[in-house]
Amino acid sequence: MKEFQLIEHFFTKQAISGHDVELGIGDDCALVIPAANKAIAISCDTLVENVHFYPDIPPKALGYKSLAVNLSDLASMGAEPAWMTLALTLPDVDEEWLTSYSSGLFEAAEYYNIALVGGDTTRGPRSITVTVNGQVPIGTALTRSGAKNGDWIYVTGTLGDSALGLDVIRGSQQVAVEHQSYLVGRHYYPTPRVLAGLALRTLASSAIDLSDGLYSDIQHLLRQSVVSAIIDVDLLPLSDPLKSSVTDEEALSYALTGGEDYELLFTVPEAQKGALEIALANTGVSFTQIGQISSGDKLKLIRNGQPYTPINIGFEHFS
Ligand code: ADP
Ligand code: MG
Repeated sequence: MKEFQLIEHFFTKQAISGHDVELGIGDDCALVIPAANKAIAISCDTLVENVHFYPDIPPKALGYKSLAVNLSDLASMGAEPAWMTLALTLPDVDEEWLTSYSSGLFEAAEYYNIALVGGDTTRGPRSITVTVNGQVPIGTALTRSGAKNGDWIYVTGTLGDSALGLDVIRGSQQVAVEHQSYLVGRHYYPTPRVLAGLALRTLASSAIDLSDGLYSDIQHLLRQSVVSAIIDVDLLPLSDPLKSSVTDEEALSYALTGGEDYELLFTVPEAQKGALEIALANTGVSFTQIGQISSGDKLKLIRNGQPYTPINIGFEHFS
């Protein structure tokens, strides 16, 4: 199969009517039609085999995840997904692999309503770059820099599941059979919080998505907002499968330093707390208040009112 046949066969199947696409795959460029008064949010992420994923990842999961991690960046800015491109570098044309990969990619694309409008296909060690474009009314995007002293800190969903899921996949943690598929699923099929991001646009003062782990990612937000924070680790949202699989200390460590949750961390001023409850309830996404922005000079973790230092349980960081 030649490159153009491969593209035709695997990547032109999506129905993209209803999107503002003047010209999709097939020419030297795609042509898209931005909405009036909207800024275009652009982000790309590369996944390299043996660096960001292991060769044994199911190709469908890789397809889904290669888009989901990018959609998470749009979510954290409050942008609505619109168009994407896909740069695929593959060692060979493996039709079975491509069938599964593209089914995972398009599953996420259909669900989150984003159109594949172009890309590039080359031969080489397996590597995938998805570039997403979203739209957000000018002046309303969420950023890392808007948190203010006194704002409340929240996260969506639950934390630490993905990192434990990876350890289960790699065999470095054993968990009960009934928790395996949930934990592995959270690692292979993270849920980008796109709807929550849209709902937060007029409410949150800042936001970031959690890709490297709460403890590390929140520091970017604090630095860029020039503020500090107090987090009560007893408030961290933990799933039942996580809590019942590891000790309390390990669970906190997964939640604080485990990567690839792709949940949103955001801050909300006191005056918006009521509106937040209503807006996020409508999206069906769970969210939990975990702390508060303060004026000190660094992040403080507390547990039972005492300063808390997470244990390092030494799991592999694979990002
Ligand atoms: P060029 O050599 O002009 O870059 P290509 O042969 O690489 O053109 O690509 C032909 C068309 O197919 C372009 O519209 C390009 O955007 C699209 N395309 C190439 N690879 C992919 C891919 N992996 N997914 C989606 N579209 C692709
Ligand atoms: Mg090309």
